Amino acid sequence: MIDLRSDTLTLPTPGMREAMLTAPLGDDVYAEDPTINELERRTAALLGHEAGLFCATGSLANLLGVRLLVEPGQEVLCDAAAHIARAEMGAHAAVHGVTMRTVSSADGLVDLAAYEAMLSPNAGPHLVSTAAVAVENTHNFGGGTVQPYETLAELSELCHSVGVGVHLDGARLWNAHAATGVPLADYGRLFDTISVCFSKGLGAPVGSMLVSSAANIAKARVRRKRLGGGWRQAGILAAAGLYALDHHVDRLAEDHLAASLFARAVAEQAPGAVDPETVATNIVVLDTGERPAAEVAAAALDEGVRVSALGPRMLRAVTYLGVTADQCAGAGTVIGRLLRS
Ligand SMILES: *Cc1c(COP(=O)(O)O)cnc(C)c1O
Repeated sequence: MIDLRSDTLTLPTPGMREAMLTAPLGDDVYAEDPTINELERRTAALLGHEAGLFCATGSLANLLGVRLLVEPGQEVLCDAAAHIARAEMGAHAAVHGVTMRTVSSADGLVDLAAYEAMLSPNAGPHLVSTAAVAVENTHNFGGGTVQPYETLAELSELCHSVGVGVHLDGARLWNAHAATGVPLADYGRLFDTISVCFSKGLGAPVGSMLVSSAANIAKARVRRKRLGGGWRQAGILAAAGLYALDHHVDRLAEDHLAASLFARAVAEQAPGAVDPETVATNIVVLDTGERPAAEVAAAALDEGVRVSALGPRMLRAVTYLGVTADQCAGAGTVIGRLLRS
């Protein structure tokens, strides 16, 4: 059995478990957990920001990050398939009164002209004012798409020139960094608020980080507590994050190779399902054509391959440190055969 539904399926390695077991701990609501403090300091520094806030989930880090830029009744612009729009259970609206307008794009790629046309800061008494644009890099439902750095830089400049904030949902920013070689701090300086996950490709069991200015993080810390997100000796989880930064960033290239081999194996038999050239990181999105995705996923499961049916005609496979390149290539052969027949 090979399970390619998500890179959240990673289990902590023996080395990571050992790091968790021996981590110095304290009460983080008093800001006295040394392991959390270290992970917050280190992650913020990597991204060129002043401060970090360790959160239970990427959804929470996004919720707090967007709220730093957007007041209730204002809007954030984002991709129609963005995680914040599709997979956070409406939290930005339900909890913070933030509205969204979305842009439909190919593969989740930032469409600069579309944002330029939609930006509506200080919209006056009749229209909703735009307070932020949120970008996802890599783009999950777009198929692990890496946003071109130049586009991000132009978007940041455009937004900042009209007083609009920019949030990065960097759940898999590590993968973008691994694929492009662009330093994390170069991504970091384009954005006012950034979320990153340790619980995806980095292999930690739990945990994400919001980074921003010290003043912003102080505000977010209050709001996190208000939402019930204050936690105590969570350094046991932060230790996994620190271990991941030391041991699991460089190896992401292996996941990218495995995803590419998977896509090639599929395309060999079902070339219409995916163009392997577009697979840049650890996520492969497949078009099942005439066949319902759920039916193909069920047939694959019978043959020991688990993938996600994320749309009526869309399957997603994700590689991570628990699966080998050989297994992924074999899984691709199974799916390719099912899509051909
Ligand atoms: C996984 C993910 C998140 C955060 O998800 P949680 O399950 O809340 O940790 C945020 N954005 C993207 C793009 C993701 O893939």
